[in-house]
Amino acid sequence: MRYAIATNSGTSALHLAVRALGIGEGDIVITTPMSFIASSNAILFERAVPVFVDIEPHTLTIDTRLVEKRIRALRRKGKRVKAILAIDLFGNMANWRRLREIARTYKLALIEDSCEALGSYYRSRRGEKMAGSLGDVAVFGFYPNKTLTTGEGGMLVTNDKKIAENARSMRNQGIVKGKAWGEYDKLGYNYHLADINCALGLSQLKRMPSIIKKRRFIASEYTRMFAKRGLVRTPVIQNNFFVNPFVYVIHLPRKYDIRHRDRLLKLLEKSGIKARPYFPAIHLTAFYKREFGYKRGDFPVTEFFADRALAIPFYHSLSRADIANIVKSVNFCVQKLASLSTGGRV
Ligand SMILES: *Cc1c(COP(=O)(O)O)cnc(C)c1O
Repeated sequence: MRYAIATNSGTSALHLAVRALGIGEGDIVITTPMSFIASSNAILFERAVPVFVDIEPHTLTIDTRLVEKRIRALRRKGKRVKAILAIDLFGNMANWRRLREIARTYKLALIEDSCEALGSYYRSRRGEKMAGSLGDVAVFGFYPNKTLTTGEGGMLVTNDKKIAENARSMRNQGIVKGKAWGEYDKLGYNYHLADINCALGLSQLKRMPSIIKKRRFIASEYTRMFAKRGLVRTPVIQNNFFVNPFVYVIHLPRKYDIRHRDRLLKLLEKSGIKARPYFPAIHLTAFYKREFGYKRGDFPVTEFFADRALAIPFYHSLSRADIANIVKSVNFCVQKLASLSTGGRV
């Protein structure tokens, strides 16, 4: 990308993206409830309205058929749809080819949340398309659990000069272009990334190829080993996609529900394996329920996944033997769940 503006978090990069695109009070931004909560919060910072649509069951990214349906319905009611904010979840890229067509048709801005997809790409007829190169603006995050970390940090990337200049100014209190200090021509923030964090990021950047290799190795070993028993569902990778996995999230088959998943988390904890629900659906958090009146059943695919999913250990020093042990423990605990549920107690 032509321009890159480092920020002190992925969340602040998202906020700058929303502002730099001129999205403001009452504007509608289409996004999904299957993400880290920051992606829709950033829309609310500007009193714009996040309108959720559900995800596709396999890629867990925004369902582009629902996007178009929703835009049409909103337009019929005379609503102002301004942008789509799609998430490259867990390293899986959204259907950007289709999203770009929709954005063109309805004259919408596209924000790409690539915080979890640094290094992912897909092969198209016109070459490789990297995550973070497909929106009008894309953002990355450099929190410690991300592929590349600066301690805390983020980055906004774009090919649009005006967006870049705007974001660069707002990152530093709204400073006048070219000035170091003292002259301000818009509302800005303290969103810059400190030198010390940048130093860490630069040294991490050199390790990127080996980090990605390691992450892909761990993910593929998990998938291969889980496939032997087939007791849990593992991530699906689409053809022609190179995924740099952000986390390793498994989910329970349909016959189980959220109570089984929570029970499984406890059983794993007892076996010394730390796992987490990942992600909880945004629309069912206390804040979104209270603020917007969302309820269970509003986004069934997201809920199906959120109820059954758990992230299992995923760090670079995991050896093949560690992975085998974790898989064995997960399988063992899942079998315990099966016997529990036939007894009617979960
Ligand atoms: C990590 C992440 C962010 C940004 O998080 P920060 O902690 O603010 O850097 C935004 N969106 C998604 C989907 C993320 O995973």
